[in-house]
Amino acid sequence: MTRDDLDVDPDELYGRLKAYEGRTAASGGAGRDPVNEPMIRHWCEAMGDTNPAYPAVAPPTMLQAWTMGGLAGHPSGPDGSARSEAYDELLALLDDAGCTSVVATDCEQEYLRPLRPGDLVTFDAVIESVSPRKTTKLGTGYFVTTRMNVRARGGVGGGDGAGAGELVGTHRFRILKYAPVRPKKAAKPEPEPARKPEPKADRHRRPRPVINRDNAGFWEGVARHQLLIQRCLDCATPRFPWLPGCGACGSQRWEAFEASGAGTVFSYVVMHHPPFPAFDPPYAVALVELAEGVRMVSDITGVPYDKVRIGMPVELEFLRVDEELELPVFRGAEA
Ligand code: ZN
Repeated sequence: MTRDDLDVDPDELYGRLKAYEGRTAASGGAGRDPVNEPMIRHWCEAMGDTNPAYPAVAPPTMLQAWTMGGLAGHPSGPDGSARSEAYDELLALLDDAGCTSVVATDCEQEYLRPLRPGDLVTFDAVIESVSPRKTTKLGTGYFVTTRMNVRARGGVGGGDGAGAGELVGTHRFRILKYAPVRPKKAAKPEPEPARKPEPKADRHRRPRPVINRDNAGFWEGVARHQLLIQRCLDCATPRFPWLPGCGACGSQRWEAFEASGAGTVFSYVVMHHPPFPAFDPPYAVALVELAEGVRMVSDITGVPYDKVRIGMPVELEFLRVDEELELPVFRGAEA
């Protein structure tokens, strides 16, 4: 066995990995929506692409937009692409060899014909190649390239109307499955070299505020159950969050004063996704306008997330989050 991070015979493993080349990686994928003008317009606006050819045809670089499964991914079954057993086996082989980490390295697309509004997109993917073992700065592993074949047939407005349709583009996607580099002192490879999860307690802890010289006074106030706002000593403009200078006149002379604690919901969002370990969605995040005229972002307590409303009166309270952290939040009054 060579001096290496992996505890398997590299040639034997490579032979087994190579055997997956040409096998199906995913099959039966279907675009969630036919190619359509609204998505093309949004794309062009986001990209700043004013080419007059759009939206009569879709920009070729939108290829992947038609095959993506949305935040929840593709469902398995007739409507979505099902990842193949072969692909899962290949990844499992690599996992077992200690290549438990993964990083996407690059993608490459080929466009064969433009997509037009009404086209119905289907796709499948094949395991195109597995590289010989490579050692990178991240660690030692194998590059796995899959090639998605995107097909389309005319839906609305004609076309052949049947079958898988013609190939309109391909999307090659390459990942590196690798065993992360371990510190030098590890003389013998451990069986599970992969990412070590953070201690549960930390992962689920609410993020800590960053306290610095500019805002320390605010957090000292919180410790005393006071919500402190700054006020400019030259133009009397109140400000929040805490900053060294006045946004209205530039003066660096200021004083702190205690807010009354009364406010109203100026705006809010309800967070559903993405989930964050310290929070339990759905929950409302509000921008509260204080009676003093400044606004702050806050939890709204005392009211279910779906009962928070713009203009709702709220009242300051202090929420003990854990042993170390206490936060000023606002309690809503349900109408
Ligand atoms: Zn000022």
